Amino acid sequence: MKFAVIGAGLAGLVFGAMAVKDGHDVFIYDKNPSAGGVLALCESGDFRFEQGPLLMCDLLPGEPMSNLLAEFGIHLDLMRADRNVEMPDYSMHRPEEYEGPYWRRERLKKLFPEDADGLNRYYRFYDRMMRVRYNLNRKPSAAGIIALAMSFIPVARYARMTAQELVGHFFKNEKLQALYTGILADYCADPREVWGLAVPLTNLETGFDDRIPLEKNGRHYYGGFGYIKGGCQKIAEELADYITRKGGVIRLNTVVDRVLIEGGKAAGVLLADGTREMADIVAGSGSGRDFFLRSVGAEHLDSAYKKILDTYRPMEAVFMVHLGVDFDPVKVLGTALCYCYGSYDLPRATERLRSGEYHDGEDGFLLFVPSYHAPEFAPAGMHCLTVYTVAPDTLRDGDWESEKEKYAGHLLERAEKYLPGLRQHIITEKIMTAADYRELTHMSKSSFGGTVPVWHQKNPPHKTPVKDLWFIGQQSENGGGLWAVSGGAAAAYRECMRKKRGRKK
Ligand SMILES: Cc1cc2nc3c(=O)[nH]c(=O)nc-3n(C[C@H](O)[C@H](O)[C@H](O)COP(=O)(O)OP(=O)(O)OC[C@H]3O[C@@H](n4cnc5c(N)ncnc54)[C@H](O)[C@@H]3O)c2cc1C
Repeated sequence: MKFAVIGAGLAGLVFGAMAVKDGHDVFIYDKNPSAGGVLALCESGDFRFEQGPLLMCDLLPGEPMSNLLAEFGIHLDLMRADRNVEMPDYSMHRPEEYEGPYWRRERLKKLFPEDADGLNRYYRFYDRMMRVRYNLNRKPSAAGIIALAMSFIPVARYARMTAQELVGHFFKNEKLQALYTGILADYCADPREVWGLAVPLTNLETGFDDRIPLEKNGRHYYGGFGYIKGGCQKIAEELADYITRKGGVIRLNTVVDRVLIEGGKAAGVLLADGTREMADIVAGSGSGRDFFLRSVGAEHLDSAYKKILDTYRPMEAVFMVHLGVDFDPVKVLGTALCYCYGSYDLPRATERLRSGEYHDGEDGFLLFVPSYHAPEFAPAGMHCLTVYTVAPDTLRDGDWESEKEKYAGHLLERAEKYLPGLRQHIITEKIMTAADYRELTHMSKSSFGGTVPVWHQKNPPHKTPVKDLWFIGQQSENGGGLWAVSGGAAAAYRECMRKKRGRKK
């Protein structure tokens, strides 16, 4: 069979790799000069920077995404990593000497003595949720399903709570509550609209101290975080290499204008230069609304699918300032990644973001040092530093192009709270706004990480109302992220093949 895949981001590459592995003819089209979508690097002077993922989950050996890549013979060189957190008036830095897996609980008890009992209860609940997570990630089997059901029973009563209700159930102090819901602001999500069980799952303790063991009773049990040595673009390079070695074709600098539909069935793609390329199966990625309303046509969709397109909520954009600097920020920060929160009021921060009001760094930002895991990104003795924050795709006041220099200046000024004198050490600077991300991802509204993990929200499903047309990528998965996107693309391919086999019978 012949497959046409729109987009050589992670989703398109995984879908394409699955298809070439099964011996199909695969053609992948991408508008950019290199494969990877947001996994591709950008440059400024002699420095290179990652435009996409930072700290990655599910990718360490034995974890789900690493198992998927191993199916294509891909084994990435990973290093475990963690992050520091700065709240507006307290810090959570991992201890110099290892203090065990519950160091945060003990430190927080000292900071919030009124919540000592709540912290004990939360960490008992957390441990139970880790058992659920472990069972969820196990290879499907009858015993695994029973183990999952059994492990879920003790946490079932929390499954009706929102994230805000859950932290309110365990903790009285709002400053402590915000430590556990702060990460949701990164997903542009208000804790009142997110499923409560997402709280422990987005706050894995292994992400705050990379010395916490991942094994339990001789098994890989806890999820860990890591960086890919040499940069996240390696995932895309390895997948693209696998696809082309197996005879697949990746057409770069090529825009797909439309999906060709004949007799209610996807029949190929129409490229921007007018070329028609026929295929048996078409898979598209990118923005759900752009893809279906611009490239497919609403007349081919049923009312249920149209309703999902009308109601699902993509995340907003990011505002990034990439810097080449002549000092080592890790020596000052004590870590290569630091989340710096400026507010405890997450509902207000989310509301601002959605209304187009840019917080100008006030609500928080991240400090990230990609040259820590990829020293080759910077000349010898120099380092790369990315200062970035979530930001509205479309500004309520002004536009990104005319405001970006001013906003970058303000962000760097705030970053000096943690990196004193930063602005005197800048060798090169590259600013990336929502407009740059729209260009990179071919989306009319930039959405950096996929869809907001709103509880009960339906995202455009992989299977579409058009026969042999599949939708994959960050907007098809609730919450986005590398494993959701790659696992989702693999699941879509398997479902597509099951349907094909079913039809032949
Ligand atoms: C700043 C940032 C930080 C992130 N941090 C993390 C993190 O810490 N952990 C994590 O797990 N994930 C993170 N992510 C999310 C993760 O990187 C993405 O969800 C994932 O890489 C998206 O892959 P994709 O294939 O869906 O989309 P994309 O990477 O956007 O790729 C889609 C590609 O398709 C092309 N395309 C679309 N339509 C067409 C068309 N019609 N014609 C031609 N080409 C087309 C686009 O140009 C693009 O190259 C982050 C993302 C960003 C941007």
